[in-house]
Amino acid sequence: MSGAILILSGPSGAGKSTIIQRAEPLIGDFYFSISTTTRPPREGEVHGVDYYFTDKESFERDIAAGEFLEYAQVHGNYYGTSLKPVREALEEGKLVIFDIDVQGHRLARAKMGDLITSAFITPPTIAELERRLLSRSTDDPETVRRRLENAKEEIRALEEYDFLIINDDLDRATEEFVTVAKAARLRPGHEALRRFRESWLASGSRS
Ligand code: 5GP
Repeated sequence: MSGAILILSGPSGAGKSTIIQRAEPLIGDFYFSISTTTRPPREGEVHGVDYYFTDKESFERDIAAGEFLEYAQVHGNYYGTSLKPVREALEEGKLVIFDIDVQGHRLARAKMGDLITSAFITPPTIAELERRLLSRSTDDPETVRRRLENAKEEIRALEEYDFLIINDDLDRATEEFVTVAKAARLRPGHEALRRFRESWLASGSRS
């Protein structure tokens, strides 16, 4: 596997999807990992684009079959990353981008840590996060409250990330994300390092 992984985490409402969309033309060929979830689609979300939407029973069947690289329960719903497409993209040498929560980041690191670069993205303050969640108006007040509580928990894991991107200015945050994505691409996994060392040593020397 000669590709690399970039994990992006941060509270819902941090602007992760917007940043990824804006950065897309600037970071070259990459594969965005589409997660599977049991959460119902929000207005405008498309099956196979934003998520693969499924029910609890089939999600649990996939867990039992070992289909997931990682999965977690967030806000009472399951979210998971299927292993197969990630493996294929890595074998093609692609940068694979994940938008997953802190539990997923931890699990993915435990399995593929040498390939992973990670960034935590957040609005500058919790007050600003609340304002954005309320103005998005896709979630009821109880859901907003739960998302804020979850955000307070998630930010505790900040030290586990390589980079912090503060999204107070979308252009600057996108530019920073592009820089991080380019750096992630330059990170060879252990297998790639071993291959390089072998060929380097096999190239011989005159003395
Ligand atoms: P949302 O419901 O706002 O789309 O996502 C809620 C949270 O679930 C976000 O923090 C998002 O990063 C996380 N999430 C989305 N997909 C996955 C996944 O495949 N695995 C894990 N562990 N978290 C995910």
